[in-house]
Amino acid sequence: MGRLNDQVVNWTQVHDCYGDIDRVPVLLERVELEDDAEAWEELGYRLILEDDLVFSAGFAAVPRLVRLAWKSARARRLAGAILRRAAGHHGCDDLLADCDDAIAEFRKLLDRHLQSRPTDYLATFLDTLAAKEEYHWSAVLGDFTDDFYHLACPHCAVEVTIAIGHHGRYSAIRDWHLGDVNRRSLRPAPPETLSGTGRWMHETAVRGGHEALAGGIAHLFGKAECPRCTSVFNIADEYTSANRPVSR
Ligand SMILES: [Zn+2]
Repeated sequence: MGRLNDQVVNWTQVHDCYGDIDRVPVLLERVELEDDAEAWEELGYRLILEDDLVFSAGFAAVPRLVRLAWKSARARRLAGAILRRAAGHHGCDDLLADCDDAIAEFRKLLDRHLQSRPTDYLATFLDTLAAKEEYHWSAVLGDFTDDFYHLACPHCAVEVTIAIGHHGRYSAIRDWHLGDVNRRSLRPAPPETLSGTGRWMHETAVRGGHEALAGGIAHLFGKAECPRCTSVFNIADEYTSANRPVSR
């Protein structure tokens, strides 16, 4: 295991969600000694506020959580939860940059966990996307049983609903009374044409035997036809450009 860079953290300068500076280091020491459920629970709500915001202590804790995560599922889930929120406005860019080595280590750990075919496969998949700084896909990707994406046609700007699920894989115009009308079948990307994040996502899902996930990804990174102007566009590109979070 590579050396992690937590020795640079000055715990007197990082705050948790309650504005405290002294509890998180104590709690980390407790969970490092033993798997203390009470300490894990307090760490959870001190590092992530109401399941949404993350504060400086969260990023400062990442290297130690990652080191623990090799043997602790709680540590793995908490580190993943912090990283999933790293795209928000937290003002902790320096601390996050200090986590680079730990995050690289975390990616290896998550990949090994994915290869064990875990029951929390999708959550681990989403954590991995966050650890790859693909916060956008980490935040919106579902399991493709009943997923909808809304975007504007790049040519005529009409709002197009993209459905990828058991109910069908199509582009449509959503009508409040009639449902999804004027449906057009999506055109999935042939796997060999995928690149970048789409390729990684598809290959990883195939490797894990998650055919529905792999199929959904091929459609998400494929093409759709606009039901109004019939122009054809790349779904992932349009959805990403419309919804990309403010980068850090
Ligand atoms: Zn159009």
